[in-house]
Amino acid sequence: MDGIVQGVGFRPFVFRLAGECGLAGFVNNGSDGVTIEVEGAPARVEAFRDRLSSECPPLARVVEMCHQEIQPVGDLKFSIKLSDPAAEATTLISPDVTVCDDCLREMLDPADRRFRYPFINCTNCGPRYTIVEGIPYDRPLTSMKVFPMCQPCAEEYHDPADRRFHAQPNACPACGPSLSLRDKNGNLHESDDPLSEAVNLLRHGYILALRGVGGFHLAVEAGNDAAVRELRRRKGRAEKPFALMVRDVASAEKLCHIDESEKTALLSRQRPIVLLRARKPRLLPESIAPGNRFLGVMLPYTPLHHLLLQSEFDALVMTSGNFSEEPIAFGNDEALQRLAPLADFFLLHDREILQRCDDSIVRVAIGEPRVIRRSRGYVPEPVFLLQGVTQPILACGGELKNTIALARGRAVFLSQHIGNLDNPSALAFFEHSISHLQEILRIQPELLAHDMHPEYLSTKWAVQQRLPKIAVQHHHAHLAAVMAENGVTEPTIGLILDGTGYGTDGTIWGGEVLVGDAAGFERFAWLEPVPLPGGAAAIKQPWRMALSCLEHAYGKACESLDLPFLRNRGSEETAVVLQMIRKRLNAPLTSSCGRIFDAIAALIDLRGEVTFEAQAAIELEMCVDPSEDTIYARAISAANERDAISVAELVRSVVSDLRVGLSQSRISARFHRSLVEMFVQAAIASRQQTGINRVGLSGGVYQNSFFFDLMQRRLCESGFEVLTHRQVPTNDGGLALGQVAIAAASSGSPRS
Ligand code: ZN
Ligand code: ZN
Ligand code: FE
Repeated sequence: MDGIVQGVGFRPFVFRLAGECGLAGFVNNGSDGVTIEVEGAPARVEAFRDRLSSECPPLARVVEMCHQEIQPVGDLKFSIKLSDPAAEATTLISPDVTVCDDCLREMLDPADRRFRYPFINCTNCGPRYTIVEGIPYDRPLTSMKVFPMCQPCAEEYHDPADRRFHAQPNACPACGPSLSLRDKNGNLHESDDPLSEAVNLLRHGYILALRGVGGFHLAVEAGNDAAVRELRRRKGRAEKPFALMVRDVASAEKLCHIDESEKTALLSRQRPIVLLRARKPRLLPESIAPGNRFLGVMLPYTPLHHLLLQSEFDALVMTSGNFSEEPIAFGNDEALQRLAPLADFFLLHDREILQRCDDSIVRVAIGEPRVIRRSRGYVPEPVFLLQGVTQPILACGGELKNTIALARGRAVFLSQHIGNLDNPSALAFFEHSISHLQEILRIQPELLAHDMHPEYLSTKWAVQQRLPKIAVQHHHAHLAAVMAENGVTEPTIGLILDGTGYGTDGTIWGGEVLVGDAAGFERFAWLEPVPLPGGAAAIKQPWRMALSCLEHAYGKACESLDLPFLRNRGSEETAVVLQMIRKRLNAPLTSSCGRIFDAIAALIDLRGEVTFEAQAAIELEMCVDPSEDTIYARAISAANERDAISVAELVRSVVSDLRVGLSQSRISARFHRSLVEMFVQAAIASRQQTGINRVGLSGGVYQNSFFFDLMQRRLCESGFEVLTHRQVPTNDGGLALGQVAIAAASSGSPRS
């Protein structure tokens, strides 16, 4: 058998099952997976086999199971064989797992020796990936090594019949980690019960830095508007939504609409943040997620979270412990330093976090959960390829929402969310993640894949490495990622709608119809490029993009258009930007799809400047009136179906609607529907030419639920087979998977 079978109670489970079935034999971890030999009456062996798959412990992920008959050897009892270290190396380390029901029950039982103990865990639950420093996964190579087990804990640990048999983080109040409370100057608050004190502080509106599994959270009581606003001010986060932690599903239902798949996602053992539609009127302050129809909600996943929320709060704001976009803080001293300007108090613990890991984010679209940020709870569980790679590969990912990947055989191990590689601490995190994953997975890459963009820090790092390497076009990687995730290797039409990525012609791409596979692609069609005036400045100021689109659609005449968004800008400012556009001064051409969303949001005077990535596009989605179903027929027929897809008529249609006073909500809906139709037409044209009937959807734009739903539906109605992302993010967090697939396809002739 092959799969995640370590630290998840698989061997003790087999041991118990064999005992119950009255069989002799052994279980053993080998380099090719787990081997079980049993001997006994055929009916008993049969029962054993059935129960092996039906009663498998919750955390064991069995990828493949096969069996054969052998001669009985006359074993009298069943045993767990010691594994040899070489074999241990290939066994997978489990992700961190939410506290299980058995542990919760014990924690709330006044008679239990772990009553209210915030670090309770067992073989089925608790921290894993974040406490491991090396392999084999054994207590001396985890951050539990400084806590020698007391007698009762050691007995549990060594008893194959116990739920805590070989549970490496096993601990109790007598021998394990403990909590402490400090103020922002680092002074210890002497207290028998730091937890109750922390609860009190939260009730009084203080900002609490809270050490968790993969790093620190900053917490405030969600109902306290003043505290939420103060947290925004200190964190330098003006409007980007904050996540909530709520007590249970019932509390979540008070705040949000929840369907069955969303409930399943909330309760899954990964316990991600799930994006849910907020109920109206809002029960909690608007400042938690200004202007957003969705709330990011998670359930408690550590014993400590349960203790905090169980009796005290319905909801806490729980946002990552960092300033702005820096990596999340995870060490005590580091947090006391970095978070002192942000938090009033610190609830610390002394079980060191060895790997930083942010909360994961999931949303349900078209009835299925889709991971938007793949981190805690998922990492280091691999994504499996249909065909294995012939040599170990390291993929360096992109620049924003960076993740890296290591591949061996069929398994691709994506790292946790590393984030935006635009600050030195993120780069250090990037390098650490690569070396740590190489170490615990024992993968020594022989081939390296990186983005084509010469300025990405991941590219700059990659070119310094002495390994054969391949530069991968950004949107080709997106296409390869969605194909790999769906186990497709035959040529596919990719509707890759994205922010920005470096194109093979040196311009900035992002609205691409690509046809190809991992080995190569043809650029069948793309959004007609428009200048991006000021480069990065245009991304922060979508009104520049709106002006660029107007100039593109009207030429000189755009100056006489009397539009509200222009009235609010000084004429000097617009004149300067128009100069940049016309003279192409610091105004690179881009076919980005994300920038078109920006432009329309600014054009209809919804959002001219942003405080976080994709804010304008998100607000454009949020204001859609779904009952508006007009499409701009002229814009679609004028768009061209291959080569450059013209957006000029689309812009003119929006402007004329604006002039007759159509609402932002209705214009937004018409724009969304028309853009979908333009790409559906391009896909149909591509099918006519190539005979390919399969479309892959990838790129950051598909985080827009309305757009994604509509695109998927319209493509299905047009007879296409549609590939979408589920396990890996559709944004650049999934890029490394595509880079792996492309590197593997090229590995016959790697470039150096
Ligand atoms: Zn447990
Ligand atoms: Zn103990
Ligand atoms: Fe991208």
